[in-house]
Amino acid sequence: MTCQLCDTTETTDYLCARCSHVLTEQLLRMPVLYRSLAAFLQPAARGAQHGGHAQAVDGALPVSENVLDLRGPGGIVGILEDWRSAVHAARRWPAPVLTVGIPHRVTAAAAALAYSVDWVARCWPEAGQFAQEIRDVHAAAASVVHPQLAEERGTRLGKCPAVDPSEAVCGAVLRHYPGQRAVTCRWCGTVYEPHEWKKLREWIDFEESNTALEQAS
Ligand SMILES: [Zn+2]
Ligand SMILES: [Zn+2]
Repeated sequence: MTCQLCDTTETTDYLCARCSHVLTEQLLRMPVLYRSLAAFLQPAARGAQHGGHAQAVDGALPVSENVLDLRGPGGIVGILEDWRSAVHAARRWPAPVLTVGIPHRVTAAAAALAYSVDWVARCWPEAGQFAQEIRDVHAAAASVVHPQLAEERGTRLGKCPAVDPSEAVCGAVLRHYPGQRAVTCRWCGTVYEPHEWKKLREWIDFEESNTALEQAS
């Protein structure tokens, strides 16, 4: 069969050797990524570091959406612990004992999962889904932490609410790039200054909850 993750390499297992190796590396990098994300919780402090004026950041919108999600209960720690529980259940091991403090929990869950990668690749039909979720959360964290990656991709904020003269909403994806003070729409060119972020945040939340409702119905 073909590897469940890359969908190209022939393998007798659920994951090919290369994808298993990458998965292990991503898991082992999680604790460092998690800790590194803390530095991105305060965009104003970061701006000042680069020699700019320390601006009062009203909404603190650009960096925190992604970073708070990743560091929150449903982020890195939740994803790792859910998969660890699933692996334990599948291997008929007793449920994992949780340690105290999110950084320790991230380290413990990531190490335990990395330890089980060989078994996952060989024996677990859910290997592909597991590897995909780890790849996604790793990419989300890495795009914040590693500047080159982040510069290419930016932090996704939501859709641009600018309205053109014909009253059409722009709707292009807005991204914040590290070191930039304002958010600029690369499609319509609208610039959102820090004092507008709170309003922008509200609009994006409203727009995304509407989209979610439409998809649910
Ligand atoms: Zn593969
Ligand atoms: Zn726009």
